[in-house]
Amino acid sequence: MNHNIEERLKQHYAEAGISRKVYEFGMKIETDLKERFETIDQIAEYNQLKVVHAMQKARVNTECFQYASGYGYNDFGRDTLEKVYAYIFHTEDALVRPQITCGTHALALALAANLRPGDEMISVAGKPYDTLEEVIGIRKSKGSLKEYGISYRQVDLLADGSFDFETIEKTVRPDTKLVTIQRSKGYQTRPSFSVEQIGEVIRFMKERFPDVICMVDNCYGEFVELQEPSDVGADLVVGSLIKNPGGGLAPIGGYIAGRKDLIENCAYRLTSPGLGKEVGASLGVMKDFYQGLFLAPTVVKGAVKGAIFAAGIYEKLGFSVIPSMKEERHDIIQAVEFGTAEGVIRFCQGIQAAAPVDSYVTPEPWAMPGYDSDVIMAAGAFVQGSSIELSADAPIKPPYAVYFQGGLTWEHAKFGILMTLQKLTEAGVVTIE
Ligand SMILES: *Cc1c(COP(=O)(O)O)cnc(C)c1O
Repeated sequence: MNHNIEERLKQHYAEAGISRKVYEFGMKIETDLKERFETIDQIAEYNQLKVVHAMQKARVNTECFQYASGYGYNDFGRDTLEKVYAYIFHTEDALVRPQITCGTHALALALAANLRPGDEMISVAGKPYDTLEEVIGIRKSKGSLKEYGISYRQVDLLADGSFDFETIEKTVRPDTKLVTIQRSKGYQTRPSFSVEQIGEVIRFMKERFPDVICMVDNCYGEFVELQEPSDVGADLVVGSLIKNPGGGLAPIGGYIAGRKDLIENCAYRLTSPGLGKEVGASLGVMKDFYQGLFLAPTVVKGAVKGAIFAAGIYEKLGFSVIPSMKEERHDIIQAVEFGTAEGVIRFCQGIQAAAPVDSYVTPEPWAMPGYDSDVIMAAGAFVQGSSIELSADAPIKPPYAVYFQGGLTWEHAKFGILMTLQKLTEAGVVTIE
């Protein structure tokens, strides 16, 4: 390292409120991670090539970024972007739209479009993400799949977090139309699945029940590994553009990539029977969708490094972290268990204090609709609620775990994590010698 730059850097961190002790503690962890980070760089390099190659193959040109309004017939940018996604995910087709408002909407759409009254869906990865409970009707809601006569069953994971193949085989019935698999742990404490593990359960399903649709909730997983669930047989992969694949630039949106007939069902459901993919103007967001996708592999790289760095710091300080510093990564989420309300609150305040936007506000725990305890959330994002940007949240209840993710650059993620440690040491929650 250039010593002059290093000195200037230390000085700058000090001016930003990071003490010498905190900085040096972080530097030790970072040094330990050098080799690990090289692997993360290589994954990003691979995925960068994958994305560029897909854009070249689809012959992306400046016309793709033009504003389209009204019905959006012949919206060239939109149609070409859907080809790019299909090339990246190696699927027959894709639906990538600003009219898909978020990840929950994309998942609800994929389900509602491909299930009919009397059909059954099964989650083979245990309880799905919270917001899906109302989509499915596990929790009562207007317009749930349950109201439309679509039933749901769930196969819980085994105690070690792996798939329960035996029970899956016994649970599938003739009316089972679709199984869903959530790649990321979301806000649970089970491990996230690797694409390889997802491939095993899909292979298991396809050998026994070839007609059952295998759908993967890919939220937070895109570009973390070399392959995506569609590379190991998923019929549908679904995600949000204000997470990984939007690269921080997409201001809204969701995607569904998969088998042509299933994507057509999604398009008919999103717009209207008969109209499908033909309508839905892109309203000027295309340049951000393309550029965000182009940046996504390196943005995800920064977020993954940030997650590992946080794991390293808090593991070293004796806290329980999921995943651990050494574990392979399958998504960008990091959980840290502080065991006290004070711990999670200070952590979130550190993330907020390091944000480029709204850094001067102090997040406090608050009652939120849909939660059974107070929740604290830290985000200073360019795009509201974007969780590819550095963000953290924690329910104020045992085990007092904070879930943290994102960072558009590694440098910013690092600063944010150092700031959490700063806040925790100032509050006396942790001591570094
Ligand atoms: C974020 C997320 C969702 C829902 O996405 P929203 O954009 O918040 O609606 C669904 N599943 C998983 C695993 C997620 O991480």
